[in-house]
Amino acid sequence: MLMSDSLASLLKIARIAGERASKICQTVLDGTPLSLEKGDKSPVTLADYGCQAVILREVASAFPDHVIVAEEGSEHLKETAGDEGTKRIVELVSGNLEEEVNFDQVCAWIDHQGTGKSEYTWSIDPIDGTKGFLRREQYAVAIGIMKNNVPYAGVLACPNLPVDLNQPDGPRGVLYVAAKGQGTTRVALDGGEATPVHTNAQADAAACRVLGSVESAHGDPALVVSMMKEAGIQGGFVRYDSQAKYGILADGNAEIYVRPRSRPDYRENIWDHVAGVIVAEEAGGKVTDLDGKALNFALGKRLTENRGVLATASADIHDFVVKGLQLAEAKN
Ligand code: AMP
Ligand code: MG
Repeated sequence: MLMSDSLASLLKIARIAGERASKICQTVLDGTPLSLEKGDKSPVTLADYGCQAVILREVASAFPDHVIVAEEGSEHLKETAGDEGTKRIVELVSGNLEEEVNFDQVCAWIDHQGTGKSEYTWSIDPIDGTKGFLRREQYAVAIGIMKNNVPYAGVLACPNLPVDLNQPDGPRGVLYVAAKGQGTTRVALDGGEATPVHTNAQADAAACRVLGSVESAHGDPALVVSMMKEAGIQGGFVRYDSQAKYGILADGNAEIYVRPRSRPDYRENIWDHVAGVIVAEEAGGKVTDLDGKALNFALGKRLTENRGVLATASADIHDFVVKGLQLAEAKN
């Protein structure tokens, strides 16, 4: 159904898409996820493709003109799925949509890019943190929306994140919803009341908790440890997969998410950040690169002009982390 570009309609579609995709993830995790290796040796599963199909189907039907930049493409699926994978992805998407669809239709949704005649760009990672997903740890369905290449709204579904981080054995599944000027809310994925969330902006350096990737190869843990020493940060370094880190920061459960480059030529993918950035910013956080420079999302699929990413609970915390990074790098 075609919809107007109002913020409310954007969020409505993003949320439906995020909830559908979360169900795909659950269905796949209830069985044995089939991992297909990509050319760059990163894993991808039928759940990644299934999620992208159902998300893009929603966006394509409501906003056919909107530009879509999403992580996966059907070419690799067609090459690697085989008869078994083809059958399973069709079953997965048909089951989720409660209607019979065929493989060609699934691939067409995965590859949908929009007509491009729009100021809106959806930046989508169907499963961010596929490695965490396969370990049955943290992962996120990241649906970011930019207006004129600036993060504008987003839905971040974290199906395996404890609703209360202090109760890891309690219920899981959290949905963060954010929109420019409207704040960030969180709601349990299985329903309930949405509550506003805020970063923990008042923390002093000694109390700050730092978030980073589980995968050491996605960053530079030695630099992070050195920065913490220089800045006098003593709250600990906690690792989570995926953009769930932005949600945890928005929630006030940590104050710093630092993502140094893993190697000098690495540039961040926009779909690894758009949804998380708006979730963190609208909760009161500040997000830049490691130099304190604004992230430039207008350059295509990657943040080619930025060096890593730094998200913090407040502008003050941002300042002392940037200084700590400078001192740590000068000593390196
Ligand atoms: P995280 O769990 O925060 O490390 O984020 C997972 C994302 O890291 C994946 O979606 C990849 O796009 C991205 N990624 C893969 N390789 C690297 C790398 N060498 N440096 C930084 N990020 C990477
Ligand atoms: Mg990702």
